[in-house]
Amino acid sequence: MQMQRKPVLEAEKLNIVNDEVVSVSGESTRSVHAGERGHHTCDTITIPIHQTATFWFKNSEELRAYQEGRLARNEYGRYGNPTWQAVERKLADLEFAEEALLFASGMNAVTTTLFALLPKGGHLIITSDCYRRTRQFCFEFLARMDVKTTVIEPSNLDQLSDALCDDTDLFFSELPTNPYLRVLDVPEAVKLAGANGTTVIIDSTFATPLNYRPLKDGADLVIHSATKYLGGHNDLLAGVAAGSSNIVQSLRKAVGILGGITTPQNAYLLLRGLKTLGLRMARHNDNAFRIARMLESHPRVRRVFYPGLESHPDHQTAASLLKGYGGVVTFEIDGNLEAAERFVDRCRIPYIAPSLGGVESLIEMPAVMSYWDISREKRLGYGISDSLVRYSCGIEDPEDLIADLCQALEVAAP
Ligand SMILES: *Cc1c(COP(=O)(O)O)cnc(C)c1O
Repeated sequence: MQMQRKPVLEAEKLNIVNDEVVSVSGESTRSVHAGERGHHTCDTITIPIHQTATFWFKNSEELRAYQEGRLARNEYGRYGNPTWQAVERKLADLEFAEEALLFASGMNAVTTTLFALLPKGGHLIITSDCYRRTRQFCFEFLARMDVKTTVIEPSNLDQLSDALCDDTDLFFSELPTNPYLRVLDVPEAVKLAGANGTTVIIDSTFATPLNYRPLKDGADLVIHSATKYLGGHNDLLAGVAAGSSNIVQSLRKAVGILGGITTPQNAYLLLRGLKTLGLRMARHNDNAFRIARMLESHPRVRRVFYPGLESHPDHQTAASLLKGYGGVVTFEIDGNLEAAERFVDRCRIPYIAPSLGGVESLIEMPAVMSYWDISREKRLGYGISDSLVRYSCGIEDPEDLIADLCQALEVAAP
């Protein structure tokens, strides 16, 4: 294919309509090529790391052309950089969104979005099972703007219906949720919220666009911690929001003011990680499903939470919405907190670490990791039991991961 060669200075307008070949292709082809083809300078295959803080204008006429909207190009590093624009194009393409926007981290995507879209005195609905920092932001920061937050059980449509008021601005849910992997019936939730004029935002970090695309079921915005599967190598922090240009541009303006931008190097690593998203997700989904089945039949495991299992409360919804059930398996060891710690210590392959979605398997106990700083009573109130373990399956060989878990479970007697 003949690629267009462009002078260095003529930076592209953010173009969500990618090369024709890419836009009709399958997901792995899109992960590799979307957002990059036809956007190269100097005939490089890869998009360079544009390591610059600002961009220069040849003369005042060029500056005027830019200011008057006759010329699309970059101006200053907080408003745009060609390396992150390539990632934004790729992510918009993968989500089938009009536009995507990068952030410094997943939390930065969540906080900037909620902050930018909620009015003073607004009303927000979130779910009880969710990334803990998101809940903290609502109660410790949004409350200062007199935003009222209602917490409902995850994927409970009756509670959603009860919580929706005439003036509800936003409904925010993860999919699947952390750590119980609850799966919201998005089409139904959108019906309820839409009838009310409420904006629906899905934090789809655990699903990725390869397992589920909330926008096609009517969600207004999808958010990811790109630190997890999208980056995929435990080597960067970033966040993304994707949706209609209308919403994304209002967020882009907010980022220009709030300043939560990612660096060109991080953007490059994310771009590179995304190229193998299709391959990685297939292995993550497969490894996790195998491990979930093994754990479910293991006598030292009390309970397994994995949306692919029939025993999961949202299995039906998950089966109808998701293409894959994801790489995280949550389970409860049959024993107390110390027994669970002994089990975790005995695992040889996964690192003991927070986070998920990378090629390396990670293991953690929410009780001693993300919920360490609150009382046991309060933690149990959030549904986080003593011996709960979250396993993020990497892309190692499933036989090795299973053998490792089995030998470690031998020490987990109560
Ligand atoms: C990790 C995570 C976040 C926060 O993302 P960071 O990149 O760590 O800031 C938000 N939501 C979910 C569901 C996450 O797993």
